[in-house]
Amino acid sequence: MSDTPFFDTPLRELKGIGPQRERALAHAGLDTIGDLVARLPFRYEDRTSFRPVAGVREGEKVTVAGELLNCRLRWTARRGFKIFEAVVRDDSGHLLAVWPNQPYRQNTLRPHQRVVLHGPAVRYRGVLQLSSPDVEIVGEGEGQAVHAQRIVPVYEKTGTVTSRMQRALVHDILEQMPADVDDLLPADLRSQMGLPDRRTALRQAHFPPVGTPASLLASFRSPAQLRLIFEEFFLFQCGLIAHRRSADQEQKPFVPVVDDRVRAAAKGVLPFPLTAGQRAALEDIVEDMQRGRQMNRLLQGDVGSGKTIVVLLAAVVALENGLQVALMAPTEILAEQHRETITRLLAPTKFRVGLLTGSMPAPARRAALADLADGSMHLVIGTHALIEEDVRFARLGLAVVDEQHRFGVVQRARLRAKGLRPDMLVMTATPIPRTLQLTLYGGLDVSAIRDLPPGRVPTKTTVRPEARRDEVHAFVREQLNEGRQACVIYPLVEESEKIDLRAATEMADHLAQDVFPEYHVGLLHGRMTPQVKDDVMRRFAAGEVHLLVATTVIEVGIDVPNATVMVVEHAERFGLSQLHQLRGRVGRGAQQSYCVLLYQQPLSEEAEARLAAVAATSDGFAIAEKDLELRGAGDVAGTRQAGMPTLRVGNLARDRDVMAQAAADARDWLARGGPEAGRLEAFVRERWSRQFGLISVG
Ligand code: ADP
Ligand code: MG
Repeated sequence: MSDTPFFDTPLRELKGIGPQRERALAHAGLDTIGDLVARLPFRYEDRTSFRPVAGVREGEKVTVAGELLNCRLRWTARRGFKIFEAVVRDDSGHLLAVWPNQPYRQNTLRPHQRVVLHGPAVRYRGVLQLSSPDVEIVGEGEGQAVHAQRIVPVYEKTGTVTSRMQRALVHDILEQMPADVDDLLPADLRSQMGLPDRRTALRQAHFPPVGTPASLLASFRSPAQLRLIFEEFFLFQCGLIAHRRSADQEQKPFVPVVDDRVRAAAKGVLPFPLTAGQRAALEDIVEDMQRGRQMNRLLQGDVGSGKTIVVLLAAVVALENGLQVALMAPTEILAEQHRETITRLLAPTKFRVGLLTGSMPAPARRAALADLADGSMHLVIGTHALIEEDVRFARLGLAVVDEQHRFGVVQRARLRAKGLRPDMLVMTATPIPRTLQLTLYGGLDVSAIRDLPPGRVPTKTTVRPEARRDEVHAFVREQLNEGRQACVIYPLVEESEKIDLRAATEMADHLAQDVFPEYHVGLLHGRMTPQVKDDVMRRFAAGEVHLLVATTVIEVGIDVPNATVMVVEHAERFGLSQLHQLRGRVGRGAQQSYCVLLYQQPLSEEAEARLAAVAATSDGFAIAEKDLELRGAGDVAGTRQAGMPTLRVGNLARDRDVMAQAAADARDWLARGGPEAGRLEAFVRERWSRQFGLISVG
């Protein structure tokens, strides 16, 4: 968190941390004192005064303290379902507490223990009770100053390390914290924002002063919390900006020019008029290409928005300038699909288009490598094979990465290294909310295509309970009878992967044998080898497989215009963006397409809202914003692999306004120069990538 050696102290050197706890903490990514203090409490309890149990009302969330009585495990009418219950007594009276389906509570909770309980008060069969409250066992006398008579922090439990242990540990650490703690936030900025210094902020974020409003703490907006969140975002943005600045200073060796000849060549390959969105994106790109510095641009556009033609026109600009172009796709089948489209469009030109994939026979691969190295192959489309050691280009001027969220930062950097600072264009169909753009792609400029080509028929989305699966199958049959194709998607949840895989396999068998015996049913799942997967996809694309049952999100970007029905089983388990991506697999042709979201009851309110949102809108950007709001950044589909920074204090969904401000302030302070900017630059050089778990950006 800072370069103060104190914060680098390994946790094992602390009193009370043996090998077992050290392991539990390390498992959660907590190795040093700095790591531990960066982990803020997720909740606070005001223990300056507890609620007398006699004063507890139905419908409230309360914290009470008292002595446990009558602890017992109770069986219920439902088979195998047990309830642990106890009574808590304080000076005012008694209150029942229940923990349904948590028999293990009997191992820790005993009569006459002193406890603090926190949870909702509900009425069940006329009896007021605390339902599944959090429990903290309070030792008699011991450490009372830490755990009571104040606003106490509550931490996420980490293996065997309870919230209470963490509280004691953090308290000790803060007591030992040196008087001078390094503070990278410029003092002027801090005072202008009314934020405390780092040392004060650490103390108060863990142990808020009495009187700090609970609402501020709950929304992570007390000055101490805000200061730590802002600091993290500010430092992160400093790194993005500094890296971008140094990239901008490098001149690229080949700078394309766009004259009438080039314009005519581009017009010559254009099969249809561009949409307004495509035209604007192309202008951004071509403008970048004509600059002396390297392009680093992200091209975003929903599935089917027509990114390929934009890329192709940019490629023509490079090609007409005597430069080579590389296009990297995440799978062989996608690479082949691009090759077909691009070869067709470039047929009237003199440019040679080639393919480079992992499955190529050695002689063909050797020939392709030779053609790339001597410049006789002008445009190459490939997979990861493009970034292997022995691939060399004569004059690589433009490198394009398709469906970027499947590639990490490192692979992008390796592709770039194949040329002398070639222009980089990254395409993605995952709409990314603006807030996340700032974070993930702070080093990239962004162009977004928000319209769709004319004549596109929006996919009709319906939400149905599983009980109506037969009707849905009847509908699928109608479509198949008309010569269309369909997909059925199964979610795969990690914990029960085996069971789910079996369910999907059984469903595929059932569909093939009982429901659609006259059609070819294909199965695609994550445990298959890439070759087998590609083969199934190829047969689906060729129309040989009529109905595809898939467990994982099926291959990104695959274009099967004849597929018109997408059935999503257990739609309630998918996130918003995932559902939108799945739906994007259909609706790629002129036919009306359909997406059916099947759900299993009971449906939570949140899941219901999610399904309704997908059904109501087809705007991927609106969906991505909503997704971020509902689930938080870490879960937004695809972003994990995309080089998400490790954020320890801030939360991108909750704190997006803070990120925007941090970006503006970081730009401002770095530009000012002086000793403060110098310290920030040193931080970026020495610690930035390690702190945020990134190797490089852009
Ligand atoms: P994506 O953005 O998903 O990669 P594609 O580039 O594959 O989309 O385009 C989807 C389809 O739309 C293709 O069949 C393409 O030929 C067609 N298309 C793209 N732009 C236009 C346009 N301006 N007018 C008509 N059809 C278009
Ligand atoms: Mg595409």
